[in-house]
Amino acid sequence: MSTRRQAISPAVKARVTESYGTGCWLRFPGCTGRADTLDHLLPYSKGGTDSVRNLRPACRHCNSLRADRLIQGRGVEVHVLMSSPRIGMTWGKGAPAMVLDFERMLGVVSERHGLDDDAWSVAEAMWKGAAARALRIRQAMPLVLCPPATIAAGQWREWLRLGYDIEVTDARSTRDMRCDRELKALVAWMRSGVSMRGVERAVRARDDDWRRMGLVF
Ligand SMILES: [Zn+2]
Repeated sequence: MSTRRQAISPAVKARVTESYGTGCWLRFPGCTGRADTLDHLLPYSKGGTDSVRNLRPACRHCNSLRADRLIQGRGVEVHVLMSSPRIGMTWGKGAPAMVLDFERMLGVVSERHGLDDDAWSVAEAMWKGAAARALRIRQAMPLVLCPPATIAAGQWREWLRLGYDIEVTDARSTRDMRCDRELKALVAWMRSGVSMRGVERAVRARDDDWRRMGLVF
């Protein structure tokens, strides 16, 4: 018995192109723009079908980078709180949520031996692993990501295109650096130029794209 899924029919492909054009709907960093694949809004692995309603044009790069992560409002609710490494943001809202807080992980890891580069690396790896898994499961409750600045700087554009709700603190801190890794994180954060205004601009562009793609929440 073959476990391979059936190919999407040419008629469905033609109707997706007719409805949504030939541009990639995901537009992650590195997007080639040319939609040579079809992306499932609700991933196939999570019960999504090959219907025109569930398919959008996407380039191969973005489609494979997205994998089976869910889109905000379609099975997940993700909040991302980002700041320079020396500020740290906390989830102040009362609603129950699964919170992945890098600073807290760093606190636990460095409790006995102090905060150094090794503690930072371990906490960063822990955060990355936990987030990768959490983002691939269907959440019963909101997921709150408080990422390390290095990961936030590199991934916020991708998260934004998945519809996650992103909040940035632009405040500056005068607190001393705790280790070299933190200094590197600060440099990555500054170089990325991420700001609340930048995020708001990108959200407007994304929402325009989503309207064209028939996705208005
Ligand atoms: Zn793309």
